[in-house]
Amino acid sequence: MVSRVIDPKGADSSGIYRRPRLALKLKRFEDLPSLLSKPKSYPTPIRMVGADYSQTRCVGGDGGTTVDTSALDRILEFGETTVRAQAGVRVSTLVKALAERGQELPLTPEMGQISLGAMAVSTLPQPSYAEGMAQMSSCISEVKLITPQGKQMTVTDRERDLMRVLRSSFGLLGIVHEVVVRVRPLTPVKIDYQVMTLKEFTSRYPKLISAPGAIRLHVSPFHDRITIERRTLDESAEINRSGIWQIKKSVMRNVLPAFGSTVGSVLAAPGLRNAVLSGMHRALGGGAKGVMMYAHEWMRDMPKEAWKARHTYSLWAFPQADYPNVVSGYFNFCKSYYKQHRYRGNVVSGASRLHQDRGSLFSASYSGPMFTLEPSSSGEQGWDDFLIDYNEFASSKGGTPTFNQTRALQPEHVAKSFGERAKLFRALRQRTDPVNRLRNSYFEYLLG
Ligand SMILES: Cc1cc2nc3c(=O)[nH]c(=O)nc-3n(C[C@H](O)[C@H](O)[C@H](O)COP(=O)(O)OP(=O)(O)OC[C@H]3O[C@@H](n4cnc5c(N)ncnc54)[C@H](O)[C@@H]3O)c2cc1C
Repeated sequence: MVSRVIDPKGADSSGIYRRPRLALKLKRFEDLPSLLSKPKSYPTPIRMVGADYSQTRCVGGDGGTTVDTSALDRILEFGETTVRAQAGVRVSTLVKALAERGQELPLTPEMGQISLGAMAVSTLPQPSYAEGMAQMSSCISEVKLITPQGKQMTVTDRERDLMRVLRSSFGLLGIVHEVVVRVRPLTPVKIDYQVMTLKEFTSRYPKLISAPGAIRLHVSPFHDRITIERRTLDESAEINRSGIWQIKKSVMRNVLPAFGSTVGSVLAAPGLRNAVLSGMHRALGGGAKGVMMYAHEWMRDMPKEAWKARHTYSLWAFPQADYPNVVSGYFNFCKSYYKQHRYRGNVVSGASRLHQDRGSLFSASYSGPMFTLEPSSSGEQGWDDFLIDYNEFASSKGGTPTFNQTRALQPEHVAKSFGERAKLFRALRQRTDPVNRLRNSYFEYLLG
Protein backbone atom coordinates (compact mmCIF):
# COMPACT_ATOMS: atom_id res chain seq x y z
CA MET A 1 0.00 0.00 0.00
CA VAL A 2 2.66 2.47 0.98
CA SER A 3 6.37 2.17 0.48
CA ARG A 4 8.92 2.87 3.16
CA VAL A 5 11.76 5.12 2.13
CA ILE A 6 14.93 6.21 3.85
CA ASP A 7 14.48 9.89 4.64
CA PRO A 8 17.71 11.49 3.44
CA LYS A 9 16.82 14.77 5.08
CA GLY A 10 16.25 13.53 8.63
CA ALA A 11 18.50 16.36 9.73
CA ASP A 12 19.85 18.22 6.76
CA SER A 13 22.35 20.99 6.31
CA SER A 14 19.59 23.60 6.11
CA GLY A 15 18.78 23.12 9.80
CA ILE A 16 15.19 22.28 8.92
CA TYR A 17 15.28 18.74 10.31
CA ARG A 18 12.28 16.56 10.66
CA ARG A 19 13.45 13.18 12.08
CA PRO A 20 10.52 10.90 11.39
CA ARG A 21 10.79 7.32 12.63
CA LEU A 22 9.12 6.25 9.42
CA ALA A 23 9.11 7.96 6.02
CA LEU A 24 6.42 6.63 3.69
CA LYS A 25 5.47 7.23 0.11
CA LEU A 26 1.71 7.04 -0.34
CA LYS A 27 0.54 5.17 -3.43
CA ARG A 28 -3.26 5.41 -3.04
CA PHE A 29 -5.27 7.81 -0.92
CA GLU A 30 -7.57 4.88 -0.01
CA ASP A 31 -4.79 3.66 2.32
CA LEU A 32 -4.95 6.74 4.53
CA PRO A 33 -7.72 5.58 6.94
CA SER A 34 -5.86 2.40 7.76
CA LEU A 35 -2.61 4.32 8.21
CA LEU A 36 -4.29 6.72 10.62
CA SER A 37 -5.90 3.94 12.64
CA LYS A 38 -2.66 2.07 13.42
CA PRO A 39 -0.43 4.17 15.67
CA LYS A 40 1.71 1.15 16.54
CA SER A 41 2.68 0.53 12.93
CA TYR A 42 2.61 4.20 11.87
CA PRO A 43 3.81 6.26 14.82
CA THR A 44 2.36 9.64 15.77
CA PRO A 45 2.47 12.32 14.47
CA ILE A 46 1.40 11.61 10.91
CA ARG A 47 2.71 14.53 8.83
CA MET A 48 2.10 15.06 5.14
CA VAL A 49 4.92 16.08 2.81
CA GLY A 50 4.07 17.90 -0.41
CA ALA A 51 6.93 19.30 -2.47
CA ASP A 52 8.87 19.82 0.79
CA TYR A 53 9.91 23.40 0.08
CA SER A 54 8.59 25.20 3.15
CA GLN A 55 10.94 27.53 5.01
CA THR A 56 10.01 26.14 8.44
CA ARG A 57 9.42 22.88 10.31
CA CYS A 58 5.72 22.88 9.44
CA VAL A 59 6.06 19.36 8.02
CA GLY A 60 8.09 18.14 11.06
CA GLY A 61 8.21 14.36 11.59
CA ASP A 62 9.22 14.32 15.29
CA GLY A 63 9.75 10.59 15.65
CA GLY A 64 6.48 9.90 13.87
CA THR A 65 5.52 9.19 10.27
CA THR A 66 6.01 11.45 7.28
CA VAL A 67 3.88 10.67 4.24
CA ASP A 68 5.09 11.80 0.84
CA THR A 69 2.14 12.59 -1.46
CA SER A 70 4.05 12.96 -4.72
CA ALA A 71 2.56 9.79 -6.23
CA LEU A 72 -0.93 11.32 -6.05
CA ASP A 73 -0.04 13.07 -9.27
CA ARG A 74 -3.09 12.88 -11.56
CA ILE A 75 -4.96 15.80 -13.04
CA LEU A 76 -8.46 14.33 -13.07
CA GLU A 77 -10.75 16.70 -14.95
CA PHE A 78 -10.41 19.99 -16.85
CA GLY A 79 -13.45 22.27 -16.91
CA GLU A 80 -14.28 25.76 -18.17
CA THR A 81 -13.80 27.47 -14.81
CA THR A 82 -12.20 24.81 -12.63
CA VAL A 83 -9.79 21.88 -12.72
CA ARG A 84 -9.86 18.80 -10.46
CA ALA A 85 -6.55 17.20 -9.44
CA GLN A 86 -4.89 15.03 -6.80
CA ALA A 87 -2.98 16.59 -3.91
CA GLY A 88 0.50 15.56 -5.04
CA VAL A 89 0.33 17.38 -8.40
CA ARG A 90 2.86 20.24 -8.53
CA VAL A 91 1.63 23.73 -9.34
CA SER A 92 4.15 23.95 -12.22
CA THR A 93 2.72 20.76 -13.79
CA LEU A 94 -0.81 22.09 -13.48
CA VAL A 95 0.08 25.55 -14.78
CA LYS A 96 1.77 24.09 -17.88
CA ALA A 97 -1.19 21.79 -18.60
CA LEU A 98 -3.61 24.71 -18.21
CA ALA A 99 -1.55 26.96 -20.49
CA GLU A 100 -1.81 24.36 -23.26
CA ARG A 101 -5.59 24.67 -22.94
CA GLY A 102 -5.52 28.48 -22.93
CA GLN A 103 -6.17 28.68 -19.18
CA GLU A 104 -4.33 29.79 -16.04
CA LEU A 105 -4.72 30.04 -12.27
CA PRO A 106 -6.05 33.33 -10.85
CA LEU A 107 -2.63 33.68 -9.14
CA THR A 108 0.65 32.27 -10.45
CA PRO A 109 3.65 32.03 -8.10
CA GLU A 110 7.23 32.40 -9.34
CA MET A 111 8.20 29.03 -7.95
CA GLY A 112 6.77 25.81 -9.37
CA GLN A 113 7.45 23.20 -6.67
CA ILE A 114 4.30 23.67 -4.63
CA SER A 115 1.99 20.68 -4.23
CA LEU A 116 -1.74 21.25 -4.56
CA GLY A 117 -2.22 19.70 -1.10
CA ALA A 118 0.04 22.35 0.45
CA MET A 119 -1.55 25.03 -1.72
CA ALA A 120 -4.91 24.14 -0.15
CA VAL A 121 -3.80 24.22 3.49
CA SER A 122 -0.83 26.59 3.88
CA THR A 123 -0.20 30.33 3.53
CA LEU A 124 1.12 31.29 0.11
CA PRO A 125 0.54 35.01 -0.45
CA GLN A 126 1.09 36.33 -3.99
CA PRO A 127 1.13 39.78 -5.60
CA SER A 128 -2.64 40.18 -6.01
CA TYR A 129 -4.95 41.93 -8.48
CA ALA A 130 -8.18 42.15 -6.49
CA GLU A 131 -9.78 41.81 -3.10
CA GLY A 132 -10.54 38.26 -1.97
CA MET A 133 -7.75 36.60 -3.96
CA ALA A 134 -4.32 37.22 -2.43
CA GLN A 135 -3.24 33.73 -1.33
CA MET A 136 -3.01 30.58 -3.38
CA SER A 137 -5.49 28.77 -1.12
CA SER A 138 -8.24 31.15 -2.24
CA CYS A 139 -7.99 29.55 -5.70
CA ILE A 140 -9.23 26.30 -4.12
CA SER A 141 -12.99 25.78 -4.33
CA GLU A 142 -13.27 22.20 -3.05
CA VAL A 143 -11.16 19.79 -1.01
CA LYS A 144 -11.49 16.08 -0.37
CA LEU A 145 -9.81 15.01 2.83
CA ILE A 146 -9.51 12.20 5.33
CA THR A 147 -10.16 13.31 8.90
CA PRO A 148 -7.92 12.29 11.84
CA GLN A 149 -10.50 9.55 12.58
CA GLY A 150 -10.12 8.20 9.04
CA LYS A 151 -13.42 9.50 7.63
CA GLN A 152 -13.73 10.79 4.07
CA MET A 153 -14.99 14.39 3.88
CA THR A 154 -15.73 16.76 0.98
CA VAL A 155 -15.87 20.50 1.62
CA THR A 156 -16.76 23.15 -0.94
CA ASP A 157 -16.53 26.92 -0.72
CA ARG A 158 -20.28 27.07 -0.10
CA GLU A 159 -19.30 26.05 3.46
CA ARG A 160 -17.37 29.23 3.96
CA ASP A 161 -16.37 28.96 7.60
CA LEU A 162 -15.19 25.40 7.30
CA MET A 163 -13.27 26.16 4.13
CA ARG A 164 -11.65 29.17 5.78
CA VAL A 165 -10.31 26.99 8.58
CA LEU A 166 -9.19 24.16 6.29
CA ARG A 167 -7.27 26.58 4.08
CA SER A 168 -5.07 27.34 7.12
CA SER A 169 -4.86 23.86 8.57
CA PHE A 170 -1.34 22.64 7.62
CA GLY A 171 -2.40 19.00 7.78
CA LEU A 172 -3.59 19.37 11.40
CA LEU A 173 -7.31 18.86 10.71
CA GLY A 174 -7.06 16.20 8.03
CA ILE A 175 -5.18 14.93 5.01
CA VAL A 176 -6.13 16.44 1.66
CA HIS A 177 -6.03 14.02 -1.27
CA GLU A 178 -7.97 15.88 -3.97
CA VAL A 179 -8.78 19.51 -4.78
CA VAL A 180 -10.75 21.61 -7.24
CA VAL A 181 -8.93 24.77 -8.34
CA ARG A 182 -10.42 27.83 -10.02
CA VAL A 183 -9.09 28.73 -13.47
CA ARG A 184 -9.58 31.57 -15.93
CA PRO A 185 -8.64 32.24 -19.57
CA LEU A 186 -4.93 32.88 -20.17
CA THR A 187 -4.46 36.65 -20.02
CA PRO A 188 -1.32 38.60 -21.00
CA VAL A 189 0.29 40.61 -18.22
CA LYS A 190 1.96 43.95 -18.84
CA ILE A 191 4.96 44.52 -16.59
CA ASP A 192 6.44 47.95 -15.82
CA TYR A 193 9.39 48.79 -13.63
CA GLN A 194 10.26 52.01 -11.84
CA VAL A 195 13.30 52.59 -9.63
CA MET A 196 12.97 55.00 -6.69
CA THR A 197 14.77 56.17 -3.59
CA LEU A 198 12.98 55.69 -0.27
CA LYS A 199 12.08 59.38 -0.27
CA GLU A 200 10.54 59.16 -3.74
CA PHE A 201 8.75 55.94 -2.84
CA THR A 202 7.23 57.57 0.25
CA SER A 203 6.02 60.66 -1.56
CA ARG A 204 4.58 58.73 -4.52
CA TYR A 205 3.13 55.95 -2.40
CA PRO A 206 -0.56 57.09 -2.36
CA LYS A 207 -0.59 57.24 -6.18
CA LEU A 208 1.29 53.99 -6.43
CA ILE A 209 -1.23 51.99 -4.43
CA SER A 210 -4.29 53.58 -5.98
CA ALA A 211 -3.32 52.47 -9.51
CA PRO A 212 -4.58 49.05 -10.63
CA GLY A 213 -2.50 45.89 -10.91
CA ALA A 214 -0.37 43.61 -8.81
CA ILE A 215 2.77 45.06 -7.23
CA ARG A 216 6.06 43.36 -6.46
CA LEU A 217 8.88 45.36 -4.86
CA HIS A 218 12.63 44.75 -4.78
CA VAL A 219 14.11 46.54 -1.80
CA SER A 220 17.80 47.41 -1.27
CA PRO A 221 18.34 49.19 2.07
CA PHE A 222 22.09 49.75 1.54
CA HIS A 223 21.60 51.33 -1.87
CA ASP A 224 18.53 53.37 -0.97
CA ARG A 225 16.68 51.78 -3.87
CA ILE A 226 13.19 50.37 -4.26
CA THR A 227 12.26 48.90 -7.61
CA ILE A 228 8.54 48.75 -8.25
CA GLU A 229 7.31 46.03 -10.56
CA ARG A 230 3.68 46.53 -11.59
CA ARG A 231 1.80 43.70 -13.27
CA THR A 232 -1.36 44.72 -15.10
CA LEU A 233 -3.73 42.21 -16.67
CA ASP A 234 -4.27 43.20 -20.28
CA GLU A 235 -7.52 41.54 -21.34
CA SER A 236 -7.59 43.45 -24.61
CA ALA A 237 -4.01 42.78 -25.69
CA GLU A 238 -3.52 41.00 -28.97
CA ILE A 239 -0.10 39.50 -29.02
CA ASN A 240 0.89 36.32 -30.71
CA ARG A 241 2.70 33.45 -29.04
CA SER A 242 6.06 33.97 -30.70
CA GLY A 243 6.04 37.66 -29.81
CA ILE A 244 5.51 36.82 -26.17
CA TRP A 245 8.19 34.15 -26.27
CA GLN A 246 10.79 36.63 -27.47
CA ILE A 247 9.97 39.08 -24.73
CA LYS A 248 9.95 36.36 -22.10
CA LYS A 249 13.49 35.39 -23.01
CA SER A 250 14.76 38.89 -22.64
CA VAL A 251 13.01 39.44 -19.31
CA MET A 252 14.13 36.17 -17.80
CA ARG A 253 17.70 36.36 -19.02
CA ASN A 254 18.40 40.04 -18.57
CA VAL A 255 16.07 41.66 -16.14
CA LEU A 256 14.54 39.29 -13.59
CA PRO A 257 17.72 37.47 -12.53
CA ALA A 258 19.29 40.81 -11.82
CA PHE A 259 16.69 41.42 -9.15
CA GLY A 260 17.73 38.43 -7.11
CA SER A 261 14.03 37.56 -7.01
CA THR A 262 14.67 34.36 -8.88
CA VAL A 263 16.54 32.68 -6.09
CA GLY A 264 17.41 29.61 -8.15
CA SER A 265 19.68 31.58 -10.42
CA VAL A 266 21.34 33.31 -7.50
CA LEU A 267 22.12 30.02 -5.81
CA ALA A 268 23.26 28.41 -9.02
CA ALA A 269 25.91 31.06 -9.59
CA PRO A 270 27.62 32.02 -6.31
CA GLY A 271 29.70 34.65 -8.06
CA LEU A 272 26.51 36.47 -8.89
CA ARG A 273 25.43 37.01 -5.32
CA ASN A 274 27.18 40.27 -4.69
CA ALA A 275 26.49 41.49 -8.18
CA VAL A 276 22.81 41.08 -7.54
CA LEU A 277 22.49 44.24 -5.50
CA SER A 278 24.02 46.57 -8.00
CA GLY A 279 23.25 44.47 -11.09
CA MET A 280 19.58 45.21 -10.66
CA HIS A 281 20.10 48.88 -11.25
CA ARG A 282 22.52 48.34 -14.10
CA ALA A 283 20.06 46.00 -15.81
CA LEU A 284 17.24 48.44 -15.48
CA GLY A 285 18.95 51.67 -16.38
CA GLY A 286 16.18 54.25 -16.26
CA GLY A 287 13.46 51.58 -15.91
CA ALA A 288 11.91 49.03 -18.25
CA LYS A 289 8.47 49.75 -19.61
CA GLY A 290 5.65 47.69 -21.05
CA VAL A 291 7.10 44.18 -21.09
CA MET A 292 4.38 41.62 -21.94
CA MET A 293 4.26 37.99 -20.86
CA TYR A 294 1.94 35.26 -19.65
CA ALA A 295 2.04 34.45 -15.95
CA HIS A 296 3.12 30.84 -16.44
CA GLU A 297 6.27 32.10 -18.16
CA TRP A 298 7.65 33.65 -14.99
CA MET A 299 7.31 30.38 -13.09
CA ARG A 300 10.57 28.56 -12.40
CA ASP A 301 11.56 25.22 -10.93
CA MET A 302 14.03 25.29 -8.07
CA PRO A 303 16.90 22.79 -7.61
CA LYS A 304 15.66 19.19 -7.30
CA GLU A 305 16.71 18.75 -3.67
CA ALA A 306 14.58 21.08 -1.60
CA TRP A 307 17.33 21.78 0.94
CA LYS A 308 19.49 23.43 -1.70
CA ALA A 309 16.95 26.20 -1.98
CA ARG A 310 16.47 26.71 1.76
CA HIS A 311 17.58 29.66 3.91
CA THR A 312 16.45 31.96 1.24
CA TYR A 313 13.91 34.32 2.73
CA SER A 314 11.52 34.95 5.59
CA LEU A 315 8.15 36.63 5.14
CA TRP A 316 6.06 39.04 7.22
CA ALA A 317 3.13 41.16 6.04
CA PHE A 318 2.42 44.74 7.20
CA PRO A 319 -0.64 46.97 6.96
CA GLN A 320 -0.61 48.81 3.63
CA ALA A 321 -1.45 52.18 5.20
CA ASP A 322 1.74 52.24 7.27
CA TYR A 323 4.07 50.59 4.78
CA PRO A 324 6.41 53.48 3.88
CA ASN A 325 7.11 53.82 7.61
CA VAL A 326 7.83 50.13 7.84
CA VAL A 327 10.24 50.26 4.90
CA SER A 328 11.98 53.29 6.36
CA GLY A 329 12.26 51.46 9.69
CA TYR A 330 13.61 48.41 7.84
CA PHE A 331 16.34 50.49 6.17
CA ASN A 332 17.39 51.79 9.59
CA PHE A 333 17.14 48.38 11.18
CA CYS A 334 19.36 46.78 8.50
CA LYS A 335 21.96 49.53 8.78
CA SER A 336 22.16 49.49 12.56
CA TYR A 337 22.21 45.67 12.57
CA TYR A 338 25.17 45.79 10.19
CA LYS A 339 26.97 48.31 12.36
CA GLN A 340 26.55 46.15 15.43
CA HIS A 341 26.97 42.64 13.98
CA ARG A 342 28.75 43.21 10.64
CA TYR A 343 26.05 41.19 8.90
CA ARG A 344 23.93 42.21 5.95
CA GLY A 345 21.83 40.12 3.57
CA ASN A 346 23.42 39.42 0.21
CA VAL A 347 20.21 39.27 -1.83
CA VAL A 348 17.66 42.01 -2.49
CA SER A 349 14.58 41.78 -0.25
CA GLY A 350 11.32 41.05 -2.03
CA ALA A 351 7.85 42.35 -1.22
CA SER A 352 4.32 41.88 -2.55
CA ARG A 353 1.17 43.95 -2.24
CA LEU A 354 -1.72 41.81 -0.94
CA HIS A 355 -5.35 42.81 -1.26
CA GLN A 356 -7.54 41.90 1.68
CA ASP A 357 -8.33 38.18 1.61
CA ARG A 358 -10.38 36.48 4.31
CA GLY A 359 -10.47 33.15 2.52
CA SER A 360 -8.28 31.51 5.15
CA LEU A 361 -8.07 31.99 8.91
CA PHE A 362 -4.32 32.69 8.93
CA SER A 363 -4.33 34.70 5.73
CA ALA A 364 -1.53 37.28 5.79
CA SER A 365 -4.04 39.94 4.67
CA TYR A 366 -7.03 38.84 6.74
CA SER A 367 -7.56 42.17 8.47
CA GLY A 368 -6.95 44.47 5.50
CA PRO A 369 -4.66 45.23 2.55
CA MET A 370 -1.01 44.51 3.29
CA PHE A 371 2.49 44.55 1.85
CA THR A 372 4.92 41.78 2.65
CA LEU A 373 8.61 42.36 3.38
CA GLU A 374 10.86 39.37 2.75
CA PRO A 375 14.56 39.60 3.68
CA SER A 376 16.40 37.14 1.44
CA SER A 377 19.72 35.37 1.63
CA SER A 378 21.70 32.48 0.27
CA GLY A 379 21.95 31.21 3.83
CA GLU A 380 25.38 32.52 4.75
CA GLN A 381 26.59 32.77 8.35
CA GLY A 382 24.72 35.37 10.36
CA TRP A 383 21.40 34.95 8.53
CA ASP A 384 19.67 32.92 11.27
CA ASP A 385 20.62 35.43 13.97
CA PHE A 386 19.55 38.31 11.76
CA LEU A 387 16.10 36.74 11.42
CA ILE A 388 15.62 36.55 15.19
CA ASP A 389 16.05 40.32 15.41
CA TYR A 390 14.07 40.91 12.22
CA ASN A 391 11.15 39.02 13.80
CA GLU A 392 11.20 41.40 16.77
CA PHE A 393 11.30 44.38 14.41
CA ALA A 394 8.44 42.96 12.32
CA SER A 395 6.27 42.07 15.29
CA SER A 396 6.77 45.51 16.84
CA LYS A 397 5.60 47.10 13.56
CA GLY A 398 2.31 45.19 13.65
CA GLY A 399 3.45 42.49 11.20
CA THR A 400 1.68 39.23 10.43
CA PRO A 401 3.82 36.10 9.97
CA THR A 402 3.09 32.77 8.30
CA PHE A 403 3.66 29.26 9.65
CA ASN A 404 5.41 28.00 6.52
CA GLN A 405 7.42 31.00 5.28
CA THR A 406 8.44 32.89 8.45
CA ARG A 407 11.50 31.46 10.11
CA ALA A 408 12.34 31.43 13.84
CA LEU A 409 8.75 32.22 14.77
CA GLN A 410 7.82 32.34 18.47
CA PRO A 411 4.47 31.78 20.24
CA GLU A 412 4.35 35.48 21.28
CA HIS A 413 4.46 36.53 17.61
CA VAL A 414 1.62 34.14 16.80
CA ALA A 415 -0.52 35.28 19.74
CA LYS A 416 0.05 38.94 18.93
CA SER A 417 -0.75 38.63 15.23
CA PHE A 418 -3.55 36.10 15.21
CA GLY A 419 -5.08 36.54 18.71
CA GLU A 420 -8.61 35.15 18.73
CA ARG A 421 -8.11 33.39 15.40
CA ALA A 422 -5.30 31.31 16.91
CA LYS A 423 -7.49 30.45 19.91
CA LEU A 424 -10.35 29.44 17.63
CA PHE A 425 -8.06 27.23 15.57
CA ARG A 426 -6.62 25.61 18.70
CA ALA A 427 -10.10 24.82 20.04
CA LEU A 428 -11.16 23.33 16.70
CA ARG A 429 -8.01 21.28 16.41
CA GLN A 430 -8.39 19.89 19.92
CA ARG A 431 -11.97 18.86 19.19
CA THR A 432 -11.24 17.25 15.83
CA ASP A 433 -7.98 15.56 16.84
CA PRO A 434 -8.13 14.98 20.62
CA VAL A 435 -5.34 12.39 20.57
CA ASN A 436 -3.04 14.70 18.55
CA ARG A 437 -2.55 12.13 15.81
CA LEU A 438 -1.64 14.84 13.27
CA ARG A 439 0.08 17.42 15.46
CA ASN A 440 3.86 17.84 15.59
CA SER A 441 6.01 19.75 18.09
CA TYR A 442 6.32 22.78 15.80
CA PHE A 443 2.60 23.48 15.92
CA GLU A 444 2.34 22.40 19.57
CA TYR A 445 4.92 25.07 20.41
CA LEU A 446 3.28 27.81 18.35
CA LEU A 447 -0.42 27.05 18.66
CA GLY A 448 -0.75 24.66 21.60
C1 LIG B 1 13.71 29.15 -2.86
C2 LIG B 1 12.27 29.26 -2.58
C3 LIG B 1 11.48 30.11 -3.32
C4 LIG B 1 10.11 30.20 -3.07
N1 LIG B 1 9.36 31.02 -3.85
C5 LIG B 1 8.03 31.09 -3.63
C6 LIG B 1 7.18 31.90 -4.44
O1 LIG B 1 7.63 32.55 -5.36
N2 LIG B 1 5.85 31.94 -4.15
C7 LIG B 1 5.33 31.20 -3.13
O2 LIG B 1 4.12 31.23 -2.90
N3 LIG B 1 6.10 30.43 -2.35
C8 LIG B 1 7.41 30.36 -2.58
N4 LIG B 1 8.18 29.57 -1.79
C9 LIG B 1 7.56 28.91 -0.63
C10 LIG B 1 7.24 27.54 -0.90
O3 LIG B 1 6.80 27.41 -2.20
C11 LIG B 1 6.10 26.99 -0.07
O4 LIG B 1 6.20 27.26 1.30
C12 LIG B 1 6.03 25.51 -0.26
O5 LIG B 1 6.47 25.15 -1.52
C13 LIG B 1 4.65 24.93 -0.04
O6 LIG B 1 4.43 23.82 -0.86
P1 LIG B 1 5.06 22.38 -0.56
O7 LIG B 1 4.32 21.43 -1.41
O8 LIG B 1 6.52 22.41 -0.68
O9 LIG B 1 4.64 22.19 0.94
P2 LIG B 1 5.32 21.34 2.08
O10 LIG B 1 6.47 22.08 2.64
O11 LIG B 1 5.58 19.96 1.63
O12 LIG B 1 4.10 21.36 3.12
C14 LIG B 1 3.58 22.57 3.63
C15 LIG B 1 2.54 22.27 4.73
O13 LIG B 1 1.38 21.66 4.16
C16 LIG B 1 1.14 20.39 4.74
N5 LIG B 1 0.66 19.50 3.67
C17 LIG B 1 1.29 19.21 2.52
N6 LIG B 1 0.52 18.39 1.77
C18 LIG B 1 -0.62 18.16 2.47
C19 LIG B 1 -1.80 17.38 2.24
N7 LIG B 1 -1.96 16.67 1.13
N8 LIG B 1 -2.77 17.38 3.19
C20 LIG B 1 -2.61 18.08 4.33
N9 LIG B 1 -1.52 18.82 4.60
C21 LIG B 1 -0.54 18.87 3.70
C22 LIG B 1 2.48 19.95 5.32
O14 LIG B 1 2.34 19.00 6.36
C23 LIG B 1 3.03 21.29 5.78
O15 LIG B 1 2.49 21.63 7.03
C24 LIG B 1 9.54 29.43 -2.04
C25 LIG B 1 10.34 28.56 -1.28
C26 LIG B 1 11.69 28.46 -1.56
C27 LIG B 1 12.51 27.50 -0.75
